[in-house]
Amino acid sequence: MSIQIPRGTQDILPGEIEKWQFIEKKAKEICNRFLYKEIRTPIFEHTELFQRSVGDTTDIVQKEMYTFEDRGGRSLTLRPEGTAAVVRSYAENKMYGQAAQPVKLYYFGPMFRYERPQAGRYRQFIQFGVEAIGSNDPSIDAEVISLAMELYKELGLKKLRLVINSLGDTSSRKAHRDALIHHFKPRIGEFCKDCRQRLETNPLRILDCKKDRDHQLMKSAPSILDYLNDESLQYFEAVKQHLSDMDIEYVVDPTLVRGLDYYNHTAFEIMSEADGFGAITTLCGGGRYNGLVQEVGGPDQPGIGFALSIERLLSALEAEGVELPQEHAVDCYIIALGEKAIDYAVPLLQKLRREGFSAEKDYMGRKMKAQFKAAERIGAKFALIIGEDELESGNAMVKNLTTGDQERVPFDHLPGYLRSEG
Ligand code: ATP
Ligand code: MG
Repeated sequence: MSIQIPRGTQDILPGEIEKWQFIEKKAKEICNRFLYKEIRTPIFEHTELFQRSVGDTTDIVQKEMYTFEDRGGRSLTLRPEGTAAVVRSYAENKMYGQAAQPVKLYYFGPMFRYERPQAGRYRQFIQFGVEAIGSNDPSIDAEVISLAMELYKELGLKKLRLVINSLGDTSSRKAHRDALIHHFKPRIGEFCKDCRQRLETNPLRILDCKKDRDHQLMKSAPSILDYLNDESLQYFEAVKQHLSDMDIEYVVDPTLVRGLDYYNHTAFEIMSEADGFGAITTLCGGGRYNGLVQEVGGPDQPGIGFALSIERLLSALEAEGVELPQEHAVDCYIIALGEKAIDYAVPLLQKLRREGFSAEKDYMGRKMKAQFKAAERIGAKFALIIGEDELESGNAMVKNLTTGDQERVPFDHLPGYLRSEG
């Protein structure tokens, strides 16, 4: 039996990969404008990193991690998300000591979660994310949110909904936590097994339960916004004001709690409202994580970030019918006839490529007609026809494949000609 691709993963083939490259390029270009620098961390980390940072009680740590023992007996885990590793690296490389503050980083790469595969849910998926560490200024929260929105908008998405909430600081969360326990405890028996456990470990996460989301007690649950102390409230107001000043529309949803344990203050999600997008509407999730740096052994530095997957971004583009521009065009195809010309095509191709043209020739021993077909199939702008006569006269016959016009061009003048006519 032939071997097949593992469940929940996908091959991205030529023809499809161009979209991924376009998105990656756009994301990197926006990060340059916003002065976020790329960081690349390992694909695997010590398991403990995720237990400590993502949190022992989360779905990710409890059910979704690809954890294995290496030959030295260490427990390692394929990264399920990016923030933990970035924060580990920040602490380990003492980035808090560097002159440029806050430290603004972005990453782009594969993440791994053992999930039940379905549309928009893969076991290996590509995330783009940013982290701004070291500042407690509400304008950096707004900047991080605006960066994600900018990417979606510049790619052509229109049907977006930004949802924000505040989870408050430690004391606000503590007061809210007590209220949640008080609210759910009498009827916790009606909830799923996970929620019964969450009541003890992290009651806030009951609000994020996918099974019990329609339970009557969910709607009437105490709102975190009623438990924010003055400082947390002021912080939230400032973030919202900055968003409004940038003309970024948002809705406040007090039930928005993020799946990871480390969030506080600002939490946000960007959803797609496109028809036909499917059940999973969240494109991007992020928030503030003051305390996380300390959790992984660094100093007490605040941070905020987001992560989004390219898979869901592509689904949203498809649902809105957005076509990404095709960037790459083939400049020329050498059509060589006769032994000498066929050999001459090799260094000619090298020369043209060195001059910066995307150029191709035949490798299949095709006849002239088939070579023309091949040139058209790859969308070449010009065909350079060379045979014995052309070699002798020192001129190539250049045919514009769009207009059909032909012209003799000396070999030495080819780069200049292609540049001016192309
Ligand atoms: P969900 O509630 O959909 O499971 P999450 O809370 O687990 O999302 P995060 O950990 O916040 O998601 O990840 C941020 C983003 O990464 C999500 O908004 C989504 O775009 C994307 N994402 C998460 N899990 C997957 C997956 N299995 N496949 C594809 N994209 C994913
Ligand atoms: Mg999830």
